[in-house]
Amino acid sequence: MTSPVWHPFTQHGLGDPIPLISHAKDAKLYATDGNSWIDAISSWWVTTHGHAHPRIMAAIRDQSEKLDQLIFAGWTHEPAETLAAELVRITPAPLTRVFFSDSGSTSVEVALKMALGYWFNIGEARSRILVLEHSYHGDTIGTMSVGERGVYNRAWQPLLFDVDTIPFPHEGLEQTTLDALEAACLQKPAAFIVEPLILGAGGMLIYPAWVLAEMRAICARHGVLFIADEVMTGWGRTGTRFACDSAGVIPDIVCLSKGLTGGALPLAVTLCIEPIFAAHLSTDRAKTFYHSSSYTANPIACAAANANLEIWRDEPVQQRIDALADAQAAHLSLLSHDRRVQNPRRLGTIAALDIVVADSGYLSNLAPRLIAFYRDRGVLLRPLGNTLYVMPPYCTTPDELAQVWDAIGASLDILG
Ligand code: PLP
Repeated sequence: MTSPVWHPFTQHGLGDPIPLISHAKDAKLYATDGNSWIDAISSWWVTTHGHAHPRIMAAIRDQSEKLDQLIFAGWTHEPAETLAAELVRITPAPLTRVFFSDSGSTSVEVALKMALGYWFNIGEARSRILVLEHSYHGDTIGTMSVGERGVYNRAWQPLLFDVDTIPFPHEGLEQTTLDALEAACLQKPAAFIVEPLILGAGGMLIYPAWVLAEMRAICARHGVLFIADEVMTGWGRTGTRFACDSAGVIPDIVCLSKGLTGGALPLAVTLCIEPIFAAHLSTDRAKTFYHSSSYTANPIACAAANANLEIWRDEPVQQRIDALADAQAAHLSLLSHDRRVQNPRRLGTIAALDIVVADSGYLSNLAPRLIAFYRDRGVLLRPLGNTLYVMPPYCTTPDELAQVWDAIGASLDILG
């Protein structure tokens, strides 16, 4: 019998096999039939310390015996309080408030609602959102609206709201981006949303820290709220705990998810500066921040996130990140002069390259071919069009990483 499961971003009509995974440990996924794979994209960029980290698993077990779920409107629990306090402590001082949700998309939706809620509640008519070209912020209606438009959201265009798009700061064109942002800010938009330093699903496009810092400064000059979507970049991927840290940038709103629980359970937060919270603080109930979902701040997920923060505090996470970043650089440099490779690039633990092929569009058959090739060699990779990237958990061993890059090298050969 065929499975009734309808998978995300999966064209079932191609008939590709769908591996049935029974368990996972560290950087590896295992199937009951004895097959195993190196999870070279951290199960969609969430798994940071590796699968089934004992400390996170223990926290989940402990919490599940105490409190499984609690309505979070007007009620609270210790794991959420601990987590919020710790997040405020480890992020820059102006970020004082933490709003919980359960996915990267919802953390961005919350950020957009906070920004518009702020201007609405202080009585200023600002509602336009500025976005960076090629961005991805999720697949809900609001997050698709502020993301790149393309074949993957064409059917839903009628539901999406208008935004103003700032050109991506390609090398040599940074000033064009900054000038466009400055001009757009003069129109008094509500907010500018960016993925700091690297655009993930848009093609692992990297831009310099000074551009991020300049973009932030322009927004500050014009009073435009600056939203950093650190859903992908957060929790060490780019080399520092948060990408904004390395650029010395303090956003007005920050979105975090994915590695927040070390990748074990769905959870997200949106942190904001005090004036945004204050604009919603009133005896007038109409000024309430009207947003929630049933599982907001689920206690078990919060306990997993607290364990993640303890791992960051007690284990040599930064050393693991540095070592992985160096190893990625070494592997990438070995392939960087290959005639079939273009734009080799790396930021922290994320390495990417573009494969030179005649048909490189998003719908070309390159990605499905490569995915199958890697799957047959015990590696989970999932190229974006002709962009291949490696984003493994920080516990990936040198041998495992070598196996991933060997598979990449071999895959270039099948392309001719
Ligand atoms: N924002 C960014 C930058 C992302 O990379 C993603 C997911 O890849 C999201 C938001 C959406 O997160 P989720 O898939 O958890 O909704």
